[in-house]
Amino acid sequence: MKTSHSIAIIGGGPTGLMFGCLCALRGWDFVLLDKRVSHSTHSRSIGIHPPSLRLFEQIGLRPALLDQGTRIETGVAHIERERCGTIDFTRIAHGPPYILTLAQSITESLLEKRLRELAPDSLVRGQAVKEMVKNNNRYHLKTERGVTISVDWVVGCDGRHSLVRNNSGIAHRAHRYPDHYCMGDFADHMGNRNEALVYLCRDGLVESFPHSANLRRWVLHTGDRPLATEDPYTLAEQIGRRIGRQPDAQSCTMFSQFQPEFFMADTFATGRLLLAGDAAHTVSPIGGQGMNLGWLDGAAAVQAIHEETNLAIRRYANTRKKFACRAARRAEFNMAMGRPFTSLRRTKLVTYCMLNTPIKHLMSRRFTMHGLS
Ligand SMILES: Cc1cc2nc3c(=O)[nH]c(=O)nc-3n(C[C@H](O)[C@H](O)[C@H](O)COP(=O)(O)OP(=O)(O)OC[C@H]3O[C@@H](n4cnc5c(N)ncnc54)[C@H](O)[C@@H]3O)c2cc1C
Repeated sequence: MKTSHSIAIIGGGPTGLMFGCLCALRGWDFVLLDKRVSHSTHSRSIGIHPPSLRLFEQIGLRPALLDQGTRIETGVAHIERERCGTIDFTRIAHGPPYILTLAQSITESLLEKRLRELAPDSLVRGQAVKEMVKNNNRYHLKTERGVTISVDWVVGCDGRHSLVRNNSGIAHRAHRYPDHYCMGDFADHMGNRNEALVYLCRDGLVESFPHSANLRRWVLHTGDRPLATEDPYTLAEQIGRRIGRQPDAQSCTMFSQFQPEFFMADTFATGRLLLAGDAAHTVSPIGGQGMNLGWLDGAAAVQAIHEETNLAIRRYANTRKKFACRAARRAEFNMAMGRPFTSLRRTKLVTYCMLNTPIKHLMSRRFTMHGLS
């Protein structure tokens, strides 16, 4: 294994794999280290937005992605069980006219395959970085297996509990939101595979998105605590109680409960060390933009490294943090809309204004990550 490179990417989740592909296209000398021996098999993130699809185009993966993904062209909003309007993604001007959905595990495996084609020896799995020291303008990374790798640049794509961030002393702000959610993937019996469904209910949000091979992701706001009974039967039954239709609990392939978190590193870069993806920011999954933010960070990081100036690095840190904060505020708005409501009349009025006035164009831009790259 070569122990001196220009760039080390720490972390081979979606952010690191995309960033690796972008480095490979430039012909840069880099290594990507990941502690896991294979990519994650969890379907967690499913939304791939128009600005990210442009990056997939650049790395030559868009056809494969379109082949396996589902195109969401419309978001249909309901209040309780009544349909009250739609958001149309087919007329957006800043990219392909849809949001693509695909399980994160499949997206990661496509990215990994592409990276191995573009730069066959760059990805080294099963190598956890445990220490990082800066000396003579070079970073020295020690792995758990006793290998030391020296590089000019470090890009920390190592997720929420980033060793790169912690080791370099970058502070952060973090807090949990009061909301709890339960979600699951079930066989899709709802019909239109190009529609996302959103239900604003007295007891809280229900939403569903078709994805991958005939699956549908269901998300339920469970109030200020998780479901007491942690199983897909309870989730399906609660969905049925709120919207009058329920998924087949027996077909569940993934079930989980979560409480969203806000997390923001104080800076996204120091010297020749850059943070990208969840290592720099975590936004609520309601709105589904966290993974996409990481990819867009990667594209901006490539530009900063290419320019190699302090100004370019500062610009990277400032603009990407600004966009991450903007995405966090958008997700907070989505969460606020999905909380249990007491006034049916007020909820109808607000939703009507959002979906049936020119504001709806703003909504479709926000849901497709306009203004974040
Ligand atoms: C329930 C849920 C639903 C979500 N839905 C969406 C959605 O619809 N759309 C969206 O955009 N986002 C969504 N997200 C967010 C998305 O999953 C994350 O933002 C995304 O996985 C972040 O990718 P990452 O590569 O930055 O970090 P991670 O996926 O956390 O990857 C980090 C990688 O670094 C490696 N690593 C860590 N430490 C070390 C070390 N010391 N040495 C070497 N390797 C290391 C890990 O093994 C891992 O492979 C969702 C998240 C959740 C929890």
